[in-house]
Amino acid sequence: MDKFFEIHKDIPREGPGDNQSTKKALDKINVFTENDNILDIGCGPGIHTIELAKNTNASIKALDIFDHFLDSLRKHSKINNVECRIKTIKGSMFELDKYFDKESFNLIWSEGAIYIIGFERGLKEWKNFIKPNGHLVVSEATWLKDDLPEEIKDFWNSEYPEMKTIEENLDIIKKQGYNIVDYFTIPESSWWDNYYTPLQNRINILEKEHKEDKNWLNVLYSTKKEINMYRKYSDYYGYVFYIMKK
Ligand code: SAH
Repeated sequence: MDKFFEIHKDIPREGPGDNQSTKKALDKINVFTENDNILDIGCGPGIHTIELAKNTNASIKALDIFDHFLDSLRKHSKINNVECRIKTIKGSMFELDKYFDKESFNLIWSEGAIYIIGFERGLKEWKNFIKPNGHLVVSEATWLKDDLPEEIKDFWNSEYPEMKTIEENLDIIKKQGYNIVDYFTIPESSWWDNYYTPLQNRINILEKEHKEDKNWLNVLYSTKKEINMYRKYSDYYGYVFYIMKK
């Protein structure tokens, strides 16, 4: 974990995304009043959490398992003057019933984090915490084509074998009893600008610092490999926002 945080130090986001896409997804659903509640699951450093605060009047709970990220979110909420509307909670997405009442949120939001619990299980379990007619918005790595080259198929089969196509995810959404409001793929630039490019810069620095340390070089190599895979195969997979109504 130490190595993970050392590599990810000061990276603005912990997954592909950008403020325009957050706003675009938010615009597909209701305008929020100050009585409304949003839960942001796996918020990480929470650039998008701040975007939600700036574009709604709702009160927001931001859940993550690591203090490191929650500290960073609190720091940035202060800078952006939205700290009074964002409450950070340290806890696990697997145990929402420990912290929240059933049907207590108008909106559950989760960018780049539902893969941890699994797309279908997340949809199923989190639904209990959404008010009737409330919304769930998630972004998830998704295959964009069917005819996959072996190299990229093998890579993601070992890293994230549950990755699905858009059609498969839409079927899961319907099966779990949500209406599909909309879905869209975020631009390639959102993989680079706030995520892979700063990550690659960290790798370059750490490779020099630890050039004699095999353990370090192995860890850096696997992150580098993921970045290189996207550089080569970005037509084949992307991050897709799914906007759903309970
Ligand atoms: N939403 C953020 C972070 C996505 S990365 C962004 O888009 O930048 C996934 C996040 O899930 C990380 O911040 C990680 O700390 C968090 N996480 C991992 N396991 C978790 C769990 N069991 N419960 C809650 N959050 C978890």
